[in-house]
Amino acid sequence: MHQEQARELLERLIPHSGKSIRVGVTGVPGAGKSTLIEALGLHLIEAGHRVAVLAVDPSSSITKGSILGDKTRMERLARNANSFIRPSPSAGTLGGVSRKTRETILVCEAAGFDVILIETIGVGQSEITVRSMVDFFLLLQIAGGGDELQGIKKGVMELADAVVITKADGDNKVRAIAAKKEYGMALHYMSPATEGWQTRAAICSALTGEGIPEIWDTISAFRKTVEKNGSFQRRRQQQAKEWMRALIVEELERFFFLHPEMQPLLKEMEAAVEQGKMPAAGAAHKLLEGFKALKIED
Ligand code: GDP
Repeated sequence: MHQEQARELLERLIPHSGKSIRVGVTGVPGAGKSTLIEALGLHLIEAGHRVAVLAVDPSSSITKGSILGDKTRMERLARNANSFIRPSPSAGTLGGVSRKTRETILVCEAAGFDVILIETIGVGQSEITVRSMVDFFLLLQIAGGGDELQGIKKGVMELADAVVITKADGDNKVRAIAAKKEYGMALHYMSPATEGWQTRAAICSALTGEGIPEIWDTISAFRKTVEKNGSFQRRRQQQAKEWMRALIVEELERFFFLHPEMQPLLKEMEAAVEQGKMPAAGAAHKLLEGFKALKIED
């Protein structure tokens, strides 16, 4: 019943949604995500924007939140009337977290938030999930010693529309500038994450504020470019279509595995493949045949 109400609500919100810019922010724990989001958020609010910050952290149900768990994070932004901060949903699976986040994006947009920042941790699948729900993807990196590009997954860089080296202040500034150069060169040889946009490298310091307005300038320039060449709209259309398909797959899977009439054959086939009496493909085929023969009313 609640699900039906939620669906109805989302359908009614749809005409009022979609008008924001959706920005993903990723980086390993300690990269400076929440500090940067707070600085950028406050800068945007000062310029008249309304900013929503959401988090996608599938680990949160286990670790009790490696993102936004600590209430002292983003304190100033949280207190501002023009911001909304939502910690990661505590649903365990990435699929569940992702679903709630996508729905929250629409609700926030309908509520008049025109910048949606989605924070995620730089580990594994969650970055790909967030990339699939945002327009612009920002990768935060810390300058280390030696070879900057060592240990950085090329895959993550390929998702990024900008790579920003954080904490470019004090003694660290020189290192940050050197890192920016290295990233800039590496990016030059990579295919862009977004059609018609060359991924940029930059530095910033949330402490001094240097480079923070420039991040927004880059996002604005990006938007202008990709709206003009149509890739902004195409990506959103593609994302909506893929999301619909993902929801169908999710629901079908649930329906298949939980359907009472499927249980006896499911148990039988599971035992058969476990014992090596039946190849997986044959068992799957038989189960799907059984599924197709069901009278589906629900
Ligand atoms: P997150 O885990 O990626 O969200 O990282 P945090 O935003 O919590 O930052 C991790 C640590 O780096 C904290 O101790 C921050 O105070 C520090 N930090 C973040 N941004 C800056 C910065 O611009 N300059 C300096 N010097 N320290 C920073």
